[in-house]
Amino acid sequence: MTRTAQYDLAVIGAGIIGAATALYLVEAGKRVALIDAKGLAMEASFGNAGALAFAEILPMAAPGLTRRALKWFIDPLGPLSIPPAYAPRIAPWLLRLLRAGRADRYQAGIEAQSRMMTLAGSEMDALLARTGLADMVHHDGALELYETRQAFEASMAGARQREAHGIALRHVQGEELAALQPGLAKRFAYGTFLPGWRTVSDPHVLARSIGEAALAHGAVFLKDRVTHIATRDGGVAVTLRDGQSVQAAQIVVAAGAWSHQLARQMGDRIPLETERGYNTTLPSGAFDVRRQLTFGEHGFVVTPLDCGLRIGGAVELGGLQRPPDFRRAQAMLQKAQAFLPGLNAAGGTQWMGFRPSLPDTLPVIGHSTRHPAVIYAFGHGHLGLTQSAATARIVRDLVLGRPPAIPIEAYRPDRFQLL
Ligand SMILES: Cc1cc2nc3c(=O)[nH]c(=O)nc-3n(C[C@H](O)[C@H](O)[C@H](O)COP(=O)(O)OP(=O)(O)OC[C@H]3O[C@@H](n4cnc5c(N)ncnc54)[C@H](O)[C@@H]3O)c2cc1C
Repeated sequence: MTRTAQYDLAVIGAGIIGAATALYLVEAGKRVALIDAKGLAMEASFGNAGALAFAEILPMAAPGLTRRALKWFIDPLGPLSIPPAYAPRIAPWLLRLLRAGRADRYQAGIEAQSRMMTLAGSEMDALLARTGLADMVHHDGALELYETRQAFEASMAGARQREAHGIALRHVQGEELAALQPGLAKRFAYGTFLPGWRTVSDPHVLARSIGEAALAHGAVFLKDRVTHIATRDGGVAVTLRDGQSVQAAQIVVAAGAWSHQLARQMGDRIPLETERGYNTTLPSGAFDVRRQLTFGEHGFVVTPLDCGLRIGGAVELGGLQRPPDFRRAQAMLQKAQAFLPGLNAAGGTQWMGFRPSLPDTLPVIGHSTRHPAVIYAFGHGHLGLTQSAATARIVRDLVLGRPPAIPIEAYRPDRFQLL
């Protein structure tokens, strides 16, 4: 039997982006349906590295990417991989990635990311304060580590960009480095400490708690897959797999790495791909890690969380269908054993998540170009947790017909047609 419901907004996807957006919208007095096929924060928002990485303003297509990528490709279990069968599918996305690295676009990307991060910091603080979740954030900074002077010096251009955008950092060596992370292998002689970096105690618990706050404020959760969206009578009809139809005045597509499939139904072709990432969470006590450690040359981070020590990262450009290849998680764990001598690598839980990524490292936030009742909020790549509150704030501004908190031209859905 078909049932019709009436909401001001249907938010599709209850990852950290959809959950935060639903909360902002119910706080603004809107009647909201939050719809997810799996539950609250069960995909990328479940098992990420938990960083509020407000310092991460550099686009992926940074100068030197091609050189680094070629080096990484040599190792089939290295930080960057493309399953051969997926190479033809990902090729257009890679071309756009290379184009985003052109000097003018790269700089424009930094400016857009920097504005977003400034908003992300203030909105996240406000969100955590009013939901009573501020205790879930550790203000302990992050330590980026380098093995060679050459690698350290190669990071300087990025460091100067960060400093020019007001991001505090300190280059550390010797005793200061050892004090920031005791027990680190001696091969890591250089580091950069980012005091403004934060980590959450558990990304899943935080995202779920934000979703629960939205429900406590009156949002209705519908656990089902959205199979179809269609504009109707000035609003949008959302069809669920069980045959229900949800009618809403506006919808927000926040379906992470699957969002382009819904956008296509609206006639918007958006080059969203997934950067699949892997990790292993070891039982607490596996090593006394004082703050998030970034091994950039090896493409992974180590994060102390309430649920254990999470070791992972990597990028596998392999699409949404291929089963996980957990040898990637194992390869990073083995490296971590060498980098943190004495690490107890037993008893870990492996995970793979689908980062939703656009080639210019910026999300898509804004109205569909064809249907003003459809708003997009997806494609945050490596930074969705970090930028969730900012995204929710912008979407709320759009829904309320207010000027967005920051200019959103750089995030518009049709920007790839303009390039
Ligand atoms: C290994 C790894 C480490 C990371 N580390 C960090 C980090 O430290 N800091 C950071 O900021 N970010 C990090 N990220 C990125 C971050 O996890 C993502 O950017 C973020 O979780 C994306 O949130 P989302 O809500 O857009 O997507 P998701 O969390 O994937 O949520 C999308 C939701 O939409 C639902 N959905 C999809 N299609 C439909 C449909 N048709 N109908 C109904 N529901 C649907 C899915 O079930 C899912 O719940 C990391 C990612 C990975 C993989």
